[in-house]
This record gives sequence, C-alpha cells and structure tokens, in this order.
Amino acid sequence: MLDLSVLNKEQREAVETLEGPLLILAGAGSGKTRVLTYRIANLIENGVYPGNILAITFTNKAAQEMKERIIQIVGDEARNIWISTFHSACVRILRQDIEKIGYNKDFVIYDTQDQEKIIKECLSELNIDEKAMPPKDVLSKIGSLKDDLIDAETYYSRYGMDFKTRNLANIYKMYQRKLKKSNALDFDDIIMLTVKLFKENEDVLNYYRRKFRYILVDEYQDTNRAQYEFVNILAKEHRNLCVVGDDDQCIYSWRHADIRNILEFEKDFPDVKVIKLEQNYRCTKKILDAANYVIQNNENRKHKRLWTQNELGENVRFYKAENGEDEALFIVKEIKRLVQEGYSLSDFAVLYRTNAMSRILEEAFVTSSVPYRVVGGLKFYDRKEIRDILAYLRVINNPLDNISLERIINVPRRGIGQATIDKVKEYANSRDISLYSALLEIDRIDGITKRAANAIEKFISQMNYFIVSKDRMTVSSLISEILDTTGYIKELLEDNTKESQDRIENLNEFKSAAVEFEEQNEDKSLAAFLERIALVSDQDQIENIDAVTLMTLHTAKGLEFNIVFIAAMEEGIFPHFSAKDDEDELEEERRLCYVGITRAKKKLYLTCAQQRMMYGRTMFNNVSSFIEEIPEHLIDDISPKRMSFNRVYNYDDYRAPSKTISTVNKINTTPVIQKPNLNKSANYDVGMLVKHKIFGVGKVVAVKEIAADKMITVEFDKAGVKNLLASTAPLEKI
Ligand code: ATP
Ligand code: MG
Repeated sequence: MLDLSVLNKEQREAVETLEGPLLILAGAGSGKTRVLTYRIANLIENGVYPGNILAITFTNKAAQEMKERIIQIVGDEARNIWISTFHSACVRILRQDIEKIGYNKDFVIYDTQDQEKIIKECLSELNIDEKAMPPKDVLSKIGSLKDDLIDAETYYSRYGMDFKTRNLANIYKMYQRKLKKSNALDFDDIIMLTVKLFKENEDVLNYYRRKFRYILVDEYQDTNRAQYEFVNILAKEHRNLCVVGDDDQCIYSWRHADIRNILEFEKDFPDVKVIKLEQNYRCTKKILDAANYVIQNNENRKHKRLWTQNELGENVRFYKAENGEDEALFIVKEIKRLVQEGYSLSDFAVLYRTNAMSRILEEAFVTSSVPYRVVGGLKFYDRKEIRDILAYLRVINNPLDNISLERIINVPRRGIGQATIDKVKEYANSRDISLYSALLEIDRIDGITKRAANAIEKFISQMNYFIVSKDRMTVSSLISEILDTTGYIKELLEDNTKESQDRIENLNEFKSAAVEFEEQNEDKSLAAFLERIALVSDQDQIENIDAVTLMTLHTAKGLEFNIVFIAAMEEGIFPHFSAKDDEDELEEERRLCYVGITRAKKKLYLTCAQQRMMYGRTMFNNVSSFIEEIPEHLIDDISPKRMSFNRVYNYDDYRAPSKTISTVNKINTTPVIQKPNLNKSANYDVGMLVKHKIFGVGKVVAVKEIAADKMITVEFDKAGVKNLLASTAPLEKI
C-alpha cells in the first residue's frame, strides 16, 4: 500500500486526484516533484497500466531518479512508464513513425557546431555575407521559429516579403533541405516534427492518444509553444493532464519558454482543479524569507507566499571581496572550514550567472586541492577526439550524414586533401546525391589523383565493413574496432604528448560510457546509443561523487544542496547587463535569483567583488540590487574590514599545506596579489604555445598591455578562448 502519510493535506489531495485537468501551482521546495512521483505511484496502485502514463521532467537525470523512486514504491512494473524529457519522448515517437513525414528512421541529431556548419554553407551558397547575417543569430532565429511551430514553408509564404526576412526565409528553407538530405534533425526539429507528425497522421495521433491516457509534466512554467502543443494535442480528448510548476521559477524565456503556458492553464481547461502548495520543506526560515523578499519585487506573478516549519536557521552571509580571486579563495576557505565541521563536499554548490565565471573559481579549487566538478561549460562530448569518434559512429549509423562524413574523411590523415573533398562535394551536389554515394563512385569523378582515389577506396571499404558489422557488434567493440582499424589511436600514440595521452584517456572513458550504456539499456543499438548522447543536458552530467558542484544558476533548477554560494552578485553580472533597461528581463533575472536562493537547505552565502577583470578590463561593479532587496536583519556582512589599501593579505590560509610566501604589491592604490610559482616576467608572444594548469594546451592569439600587467588571450584546444592575466594565470610556455 502506498504510504501517503509522508505528504501534507494539499499534497495528498493532488496525489489522490486521478482524473481530469489538474494544475499544481506552487513555490520552490514545496514538494511539487515529490507530488508528481507519488501521483504516478498512486495511479498505478489504482489499476492504471504503467504503459499508459507519460511523465515529462526537465532533465534525463530527473527522469531517471523519478523512475527509480516509483519502482521503489510500486515495484518493477513501473518500468513501462514513459518518464523522460520532452526531447527524449519525441525522439522515441519519431523513431517509430518519422518515415510518414519523409525522413528515415536512422536520423541523427545535429548539435550547435554541426548546425553552424550547415548555416555557413547556406550563406555561402546564397551569397549572403556572414557579417550581415551572423550564423549564430540566424540559428537562434530559426530556433525560435521552430519553437513557435513555424516551419520553413510557412515562414516563407507568410513573411518572405521584405529583403531581410526574405533572406532569412531562404536560408531557413535551404537549411531544412540540407538537414533532410543528411537525414538529420536539429534539436528544435525534434518537437516541431513530432507535432507535425501528429497533425498530419491521424492514426499515429490516435495511437498515442490512446496510449498516453495520463500525462504529467514537471516544471511546466518552462515549456515553450511547441511543447505546449505536444502536450495539449495528446491530452485534448481524455483531459487527464496534470501539470506542476512555479511561475516564479520561469527562467528559460530566452529559450522561448512562455510563462503564459502556466498562467493561462485555467483558460485552456476551465474546469481545471488548482491546488496550491505553500509549505516549503527545503529551506530554513531565514533562507526562505530572503527568497520571498526578493521575488515580491516582481509584478508579473501570481501572488503566493511560502512558509516553512523548518528551523529558523542562520542569517544569509554576505561577503564582499577585494577582487575576483579573493572572492574565490574566500569560498574555498569557507568550504574547507565547514568540511572540518563535518559537512561533506557534495553538500556544497557554487552557483554563478554565466559559464565564464567558473574559471576564476576553478583556479582557487585547484590551487587549494579541494575536489570539485564543473557541470556544463565545456562538455565532454565537445572534445575533439570525442566528436571524431562520434562522427564515425554517426556515419556508420546513417551514411547520409554529410557533415559527420566530412569531419572524418581525412581524420586520421589518410591523404585525402581539401581539393579532393571539394571535387567530391561538387560532384555530389550536381547529382543531388549524398557525399557517401559520391565517394562510392570515385572513379567517375574528374580530376581526382590516383593517390587520393586509392585512399578513398580504402576508407570506403573500411566504412562499409563497419556498416555491415554494426548490427552484430556491440557499440563498445565497434568503437575499439574503429579506433584500431583506422589508425586513430596509432596516430595519437605516435604523437606521444601529454595532450595525446589525454585524448586517449578520454576515448577510453567514452568506451566505458558505451559499456555502461550496454549494461543499462534494453535497446543496445548504435542508434539508441547516439540518441542518448545527443540528448544529454548539463544536469545529466552530474555524477555521484564527493566533490563541490560548480554550475550556472540555470543548471541548478530543481536541485537542492545543504550549502549554497552564489558568486559574483554584482550589478551588470547578476542581474545581467542585458536586463538593464528591460523590465521583463529584469524580472526574469530576479526569478533566477529566487531559484538560486531556494536551492539552499541550510546555509546561503552571497558573494561579490569590489573589482574584477572582465572582458580584459578591470571593472568596479556595484553590489547586486538583489542583495539590497533582502532586509538587513536577514543578512550578516562578513566582508573583511578594509583598514587601508596597504593592508597585508595573508593567503597562506587559503592554500594547501605548502608553506609558500605571499607578497602584496601596491599599484595605483589597487592591490595586486602575486601568487607564488608564477612567471610574471614571462614574455608571451602571439602564436606561442602555452600550457595552463586547468585549461591545458593552447595558443596565444593576442597580447595586450594593461596597467602594470598583460592580458593574454589564449585559444585553448579544449577550453576555447580565454583572457588571462600574465601575472596570475597558472601558465607556462611550452
Ligand atoms: P523545486 O521548485 O525546486 O523544483 P519542488 O517543489 O519540486 O522544488 P521537491 O524537490 O519535491 O520540491 O521537494 C523539496 C524537498 O522537500 C525535498 O527534499 C523533498 O523530499 C522534501 N519534501 C517535500 N514534501 C515533503 C513532506 N510532505 N514532508 C517532508 N519532506 C518533504
Ligand atoms: Mg521540482
């Protein structure tokens, strides 16, 4: 029997309402996710067949956890429930029936880098200057059209009038054509095409309407138009739709989430039952109070005030550091102190507004040897070697995938030069066939050297072998086979640098991921493996290890930690400067702040710095206005007292046991901290190869004199472009 005594009265009412439209509108930490979990268990207890339930969560990880929890409560039959993100559910549907809208079932899912490559091709073929229409802007525009369910044809016929929109309409059309030719979808296609499939195929729609008799959606406040349509079209007849959300936590409008979906749910379903949960079970009274004070400054919201029976707790701690490094060191030092008091590393999260903020924090964690992990930012799957092996797998799975084929055709180097590739592409375009098909006809293409033709034949015969073997080999052994047969590993071994060793290690880790996948999934096919990788989100990458978690405020959604630091609480950073003159954006920033504060169970720290390096300049930002929205009686200011600018800093406190000597210089009344063991006098020149303690190997692309220092811009192999200060960055020439 389901034990409902772990729920309060309102939660229980929600769990026991099994039929009809149900809206659970509730604040942070009030048990929304818990209610969804129990409601599913209760449906099953009341005889609903698990296969008739569709539950949508915001991340795959949340889906996994919810599923495990339900299995614990009602047993193994719960395995048949569909609990997943919108994207995973839609991909699963498309795998079955996408042929009905003209794609084939082995489609791949392109990521941003692939997308940009195609957009660039379109711009060049249409003779449009990239400066006039930057590929990133074009993609974001196309993404928002797709989220609004406006396909290329509709856009063209509706808006293709003036010059600029006509250009965009042409690009959009060509982009879709190219995707289709590669049998590829982009991320935003997934939901748009599922809705299209439903709308154009009544039998498919009816099948899923009958199948998903009960639909539940978590974090409903962050759904966009396409997701809304997907849910509504399925639920229209039986109306067994339960959505939970918090209008105060809508933080994805920049990804076209539409807060109206939750605010107007009552209009869509006039007979809806609305349940409000007002008791928070997560935070201390003081933390919750702070959150309430901040969010009440938003006008565009449904009024609610959360309360809690939890302990009063401690005041929010506010720390204003001299500069960014100092702030980071304070955070690390405080974590070390609390760990000595008995907390474990996984109790801590450090949250920040943008990914770029993680660098300075990471340096402090590295120098003081405190284990940490960064969630998001540079993703494992974005590394070059991983993208290479993935490109192989994608071509093997779907030889129409031109973008991936182009990536690997000469990786490892096998003597197929750009001139040859261009000729093959031209041939393919003129005959409207895929690149792979063109390679099969290499002897018919003019102007290919004998040597290149031989190399292509060898490559194609290897690929053909993989393609015919993929169904009788496990994914992990296929990976090994590719890495060996193509000489990929051999090239790395011969290179024999620290970097190539790293790459080999990453490839091994990738193989382990494949083995893990084979152990955990019933569908062990290559297609299923690729699909899973295409759909991982930042939060999905959190593993259960004992380390401090660093991530953006957006990624922290739905999670909770005993102790939370929100760093860089400064005007212009958070709230972000883009919200400066825009009341709606400012409200969204404030909701983000509310999300951040309510992640904390026991202790909350808000930190900032008096000055910090940003975009190559020293900035003096004001303290975030959000901090001023928290009344003084809830805040303890624990910032160091500034006696004079000559104040001596003792950084030994912050460091691992090593007894290094710290010194302080005074330049223009601005203290600059010299870290030991760093090469301040080093001269960096453009083009020089350097190695950074955290970011690895990179090339200097610019050097700029600033004050008494130098700003070096380095393009790192793995971490992308970073601006670093010559005096403090842990950088070495190599
Ligand atoms: P968010 O808005 O951040 O997504 P939420 O409303 O989904 O939060 P949950 O994550 O479900 O809230 O719950 C917050 C915390 O409170 C969890 O640790 C959960 O286990 C606990 N909790 C929820 N309801 C109860 C209850 N009735 N009794 C005890 N603990 C509860
Ligand atoms: Mg939740």
